[in-house]
Amino acid sequence: MSANGSAVVIGAGVMGSWTARWLQRAGLDVTLVDAHGPGNSLSSSGDESRVTRSAHGLDAHYPAWQRRSLDEWRELEARAGERLFLQTGVLWLAHDEAGMEADSQATLTRLAIPVERLSPADLATRWPQLGIDGLAWALHEPQAGVLMARRATAAAARDFAAAGGRLLRAHVQPPARPAGTRLGRVRLADGSALEADAFVFAAGPWLPKVLPDVAGYGRLAVTRQEVAYVAPPAGDGRFDEGRLPTWVEYGAAFYGMPSIEARGVKVAPDRPGPMVDPDRLEREPSREALAAVREFVRIRFPGLAGRPVSESRVCQYESTPDAHFIIDRHPEWEDAWVVGGGSGHGFKHGPAIGQYAAALVTGNIATAEELGPPDDRFRLGNRSAAGAGLRTAAAERA
Ligand SMILES: Cc1cc2nc3c(=O)[nH]c(=O)nc-3n(C[C@H](O)[C@H](O)[C@H](O)COP(=O)(O)OP(=O)(O)OC[C@H]3O[C@@H](n4cnc5c(N)ncnc54)[C@H](O)[C@@H]3O)c2cc1C
Repeated sequence: MSANGSAVVIGAGVMGSWTARWLQRAGLDVTLVDAHGPGNSLSSSGDESRVTRSAHGLDAHYPAWQRRSLDEWRELEARAGERLFLQTGVLWLAHDEAGMEADSQATLTRLAIPVERLSPADLATRWPQLGIDGLAWALHEPQAGVLMARRATAAAARDFAAAGGRLLRAHVQPPARPAGTRLGRVRLADGSALEADAFVFAAGPWLPKVLPDVAGYGRLAVTRQEVAYVAPPAGDGRFDEGRLPTWVEYGAAFYGMPSIEARGVKVAPDRPGPMVDPDRLEREPSREALAAVREFVRIRFPGLAGRPVSESRVCQYESTPDAHFIIDRHPEWEDAWVVGGGSGHGFKHGPAIGQYAAALVTGNIATAEELGPPDDRFRLGNRSAAGAGLRTAAAERA
């Protein structure tokens, strides 16, 4: 595609906003359309915070994308003039010697990404507010932390608009099958149409509704996920940012972060819930999830035992069968691309996802090769959930 072409990006979540920005940087005239606005509360990018960490077991591609993305987030933070990243550190609480944490230590050491190995005694000394029952050891990533997700998504979309991009509030209708091999236009709910040289569908958990044939529920599992914030005791600052790191305990399928901006300590069960429709999902917390949070807190953060939940959020994962994202051209329409399948770990990678997607759309082979993974993990291909089963390994999330 020529540098003065045009593109429409559908979805101003983290993936769409960054894709739009990179397409714009490549010289395209870009329209970014969202039904509810960037970082809205129904979207997967709309929670307050998301973990950004390098560890990903033996995989070396995601750590590289995380580091590259973190640089972009920090540059955006400087341009936006508001806090988007908090270097809380991320602590991996391991139940066993071998496993994801040990694999990550080996990989990150090889990649020269700083990590430290801590014994339970080290943990008790450094963070006495953390209960150490059942822990074999911990891996600490001091340079990792938290992205202020809703704020960061809105900042990315604003950055795009400030550079001349068109940000539109509209609902794109599922496209009818075009006569040829080009989509050419998408229709909006008011009957008008947007024409462009290229279309990027980055509709997050709505992808199965917008493109049921290629990103339908057979390929994406859209599941209900819950997050709770627990209020520390009055006068107790031990659980605040700066005093407690972000933590992930795969063995217990929980993760969370310190109390940021006095919101409360975030504690999230990390098991995929039932399938949901993001347009109909009631965002009220379930008794079961809150009970599980209280029980977990009693063991891991005894100082928070019995403390009330100050806030909660209900969101959705849009997971592929193998937890790898989808970044690929539509199989039938040569001018359309699909970007999504965040699978519970996509937020942090937004800048790299957007850059890679934009390189594919514009045919920038050098950048696509430089950024791309060593395999075909992001292809739509035959990654059908049918038969393969949804891989729910907690090791792929956060
Ligand atoms: C509870 C939870 C915890 C998570 N934790 C982490 C974490 O710690 N670290 C991490 O890296 N990732 C995490 N993730 C994953 C991450 O948040 C998602 O992968 C990411 O936000 C997905 O972004 P997206 O842009 O694909 O989708 P979304 O943010 O959902 O954006 C899609 C957008 O498309 C718009 N849209 C949809 N359909 C249409 C249409 N027809 N017309 C116009 N607009 C439309 C929507 O309004 C929405 O704004 C977590 C996710 C959840 C739910």
